[in-house]
Amino acid sequence: MTKITEGVYFIPGQDELIPDSHIYVVGKPSSQDLSLIDAGLIGKGSYKIQSILQDGIDLAAIKRVIMTHTHFDHIGCLSEIQKQIPWAELWVHDLEAEPLEQGDERTVYGMKMFQGMCQMQYGLRPGALTFKVNRKLRGGESLDIGGMVWEIIHIPGHSMGSIGLYHLPKRILIPGDVVYADYAIGRFDLHGADPSELKKSLMRLAERDVDILLPGHNRIVEKLPTGYILKTARQWESYLV
Ligand SMILES: [Zn+2]
Ligand SMILES: [Zn+2]
Repeated sequence: MTKITEGVYFIPGQDELIPDSHIYVVGKPSSQDLSLIDAGLIGKGSYKIQSILQDGIDLAAIKRVIMTHTHFDHIGCLSEIQKQIPWAELWVHDLEAEPLEQGDERTVYGMKMFQGMCQMQYGLRPGALTFKVNRKLRGGESLDIGGMVWEIIHIPGHSMGSIGLYHLPKRILIPGDVVYADYAIGRFDLHGADPSELKKSLMRLAERDVDILLPGHNRIVEKLPTGYILKTARQWESYLV
């Protein structure tokens, strides 16, 4: 794990043919109340658990997994992680929690062709990615996790139930796949995506002061230029209609 700041740790994804999402471990170690933000691609759970153990963290301190959204590259290895940490709760935005519990995998796979490919490549049966959700988030919550306050921001557009986690004191944003480094944004052509919602979500994020951007893929940015998200939104504006 790489320490970003006290209470925020980074485990980079290991992309294969399909990308593997980064995950973040959030919470002050002394709190014994840690959260994983996202899980990753199928088969990519054990190295993440190893990375946590190598840093001397007791798995008992991990109390929950909070999903930025439920795409395959973020939730694919959740069951591997749950085998190691069976007590961890699963927190997902309401709009993706319900399909996830009912085995409606349209959001997980995003498109039919990808579903077929994944099921064939990984031997997944239909409904294999069905999970019980312990807490359904709505956006607007202010959560005390691990001795740190994080605001949950509903930012649909890349997927219906995408959320961002924002920590004001250190101006940290974990936006899932909504906005990345290098003025990139998440794709908006998958099941449940909506370009005009994505634009609104980017504008919502642009209202926050962000110094540290911790996205689901690619580079993380520790000294984000002022106005970065607004500039990104403006660059994409004409596509987001
Ligand atoms: Zn995604
Ligand atoms: Zn992703």
